[in-house]
Amino acid sequence: MAQSLVDITVKDQNYILGTYARARVHFVEASGSYLIDNSGKRYLDLGSGISVSALGHQHPKVSQAIEKQLRSFVHVSNLYLNQSQVDLAEILILNTSFDKVFFCNSGTEANEALIKFSRKYWFQKKQAHKTKIISFEDSFHGRSYGALSLTGQDSMKLGFGPMLADIESIPWDDVRALEKLDFTNIAAIILEPIQAEGGINTPSKEFITALNKIQKDQDVLLLADEIQCSIGRLGYKLGSECFGIEPDMVSIAKPIGGGLPLGCVLLKDLQANKIAFGDHGTTFGGNPVACAAGLAVCQEVFTDSFLSAVKKKSLVFKKDLDQFVAEFSCFTKVKGEGLLLGLETTLELPKVLARALDSGLVILRAGSNVIRFLPPLTITLDEWREGMEIFKEVIQKEVQNG
Ligand code: PLP
Repeated sequence: MAQSLVDITVKDQNYILGTYARARVHFVEASGSYLIDNSGKRYLDLGSGISVSALGHQHPKVSQAIEKQLRSFVHVSNLYLNQSQVDLAEILILNTSFDKVFFCNSGTEANEALIKFSRKYWFQKKQAHKTKIISFEDSFHGRSYGALSLTGQDSMKLGFGPMLADIESIPWDDVRALEKLDFTNIAAIILEPIQAEGGINTPSKEFITALNKIQKDQDVLLLADEIQCSIGRLGYKLGSECFGIEPDMVSIAKPIGGGLPLGCVLLKDLQANKIAFGDHGTTFGGNPVACAAGLAVCQEVFTDSFLSAVKKKSLVFKKDLDQFVAEFSCFTKVKGEGLLLGLETTLELPKVLARALDSGLVILRAGSNVIRFLPPLTITLDEWREGMEIFKEVIQKEVQNG
């Protein structure tokens, strides 16, 4: 039997390092777009485990793929061929403009690989002085040292210095800041096509044009951190397609493992050919079970009908969120693309999120003033509307009672 909320909370606090502010809920089951707690209460999940459960919970094809692989073996190590890894790599390569995949376990590891592959590329091209990496303020790239060094949020770095050398964060969406860069020592520029954790910040057309021009004219690699916005989240296979960016390498994680830990980097041959046997590796990366789940996810998402359904839902959902801006003065604008959407607000976020949870609605925050909606890509219109009704009641109460 599931432990009570009080019992599990006490154990959590006693035994687990306090790096997370846990919500006061104990989920014990999940199916489709819903989570169920230990008292049997249902919650509509508009957070998808922070962009992980793209096909909702217990999607039959993902569950079947996991079960099938479990019956064969769970692990063999990267010293041996791995059918599900190869099959997932094939579908990724056939559906993108990239030539090779490197598998790892998480987003932060995928970004570590991006840093290593970028520097090695210039080293192999006899330009070893090109080591600097440019990222953007308010970006989030992960918690390991390289990825944290890329992250453009000083508060996350406090007390952990020194960071990795030769990394600079410049203002986001600022064409002048881009044009001022001296590329002599710059190996790469890394961006999230949409800054997700930092507040759902989309790039302007001018910014994308400037980035594309720099990529064409300068000796520099363009890297896209698509950990939160790829695999259909924006209505495209890759998030960069949504904005007309053609990165040299891409990092992916979150949704690709269908809920299991999996990340990867996509490379073009130009960069892949500069990485030799032994240059990089991992014990667990590309685990057979995670890759079997990933294959099922990609087979489902990489179809025109699935992606156009996401685009259609996005238009409807944005309109619904526009209504909130029109009706409530506490909302200033709708942010985002695809099904990575947000409402900029003057409300106190922790209170709104807790009240929504009490009312059976899981939503997230982004940055300091954005309510983030990351529904499963498979969510139905009725489910979304149910969510918006609950959300409206929550906001009405919040506005009335403060
Ligand atoms: N990059 C982006 C854009 C992310 O949103 C995240 C996680 O939220 C990461 C990197 C880090 O991924 P992980 O938590 O899997 O290490």
